[in-house]
Amino acid sequence: IALEIVAETGSTNADLLARAVHLQQPTLLWTQLQTAGKGRAGRAWHTPPGSALTFSLAWKFNLPLQGLLGLPLAVGVVIAEALRSYGVEARLKWPNDVLKDEGKLAGILIETVVDKSGQVATWAVIGVGINIAQAADLSAQTGRAIGAATELAREPERVMATLLDGFAQALPVFEQHGFAAFVEAWNTLDAYAGQTVNILDQGQVLHSGQAAGVDASGRLLLDTAQGRITIAAGDVSLRIR
Ligand code: ATP
Repeated sequence: IALEIVAETGSTNADLLARAVHLQQPTLLWTQLQTAGKGRAGRAWHTPPGSALTFSLAWKFNLPLQGLLGLPLAVGVVIAEALRSYGVEARLKWPNDVLKDEGKLAGILIETVVDKSGQVATWAVIGVGINIAQAADLSAQTGRAIGAATELAREPERVMATLLDGFAQALPVFEQHGFAAFVEAWNTLDAYAGQTVNILDQGQVLHSGQAAGVDASGRLLLDTAQGRITIAAGDVSLRIR
């Protein structure tokens, strides 16, 4: 894996997306300051200076695009397990968040480029932001509870090395076996198992029920009054009710 470090950039995902098809090897781009971070569906990811570990990893999978559906959840497992090895009580929220206590500790944004050069391959640019400092105004700015793992700020290089190791081990496993190889770990780390939740689409409640973990494709299992249903990630959001 090639490692690149830059002092400042708009978005590490945008930078690697632009270069993905020309990359000769997996590449990790780590920035000290990200000024225009992205979330899902055009939402913003905020990174006040010094408050986060911010990086993207470009990885080529010999899979069609649909083979990557469960990847955000597998990446959540990699991050949560890496952070837990530092004593951080990281848990997972479907589909793509890492929580600490009730707050959002890390965000994951995966963007893809289908390689049209020959055999079936897809570049995934895996963007990760992990809060390592309490940024006072972040919670007000986002209207959401924020989690921060301040203990990681002491040794960011070592944490990055642990994360890199985790990805190097897990992504080939994902390529071969898909999310099925991660489903048990995901369900063990599920922050909302057994809790009553709402599934929202643009603020509207689509479904309510008890969260019952995820299946081997990474779909949410929800026990509703009408019985168990499965929900694909798409662009819905999960909220505790
Ligand atoms: P959900 O579905 O839970 O609403 P999401 O998965 O759609 O979240 P993302 O797209 O992953 O959210 O992340 C963008 C959102 O994260 C923003 O809308 C904002 O509320 C929140 N956010 C932005 N910056 C941070 C940060 N540094 N720490 C925690 N949360 C943040």
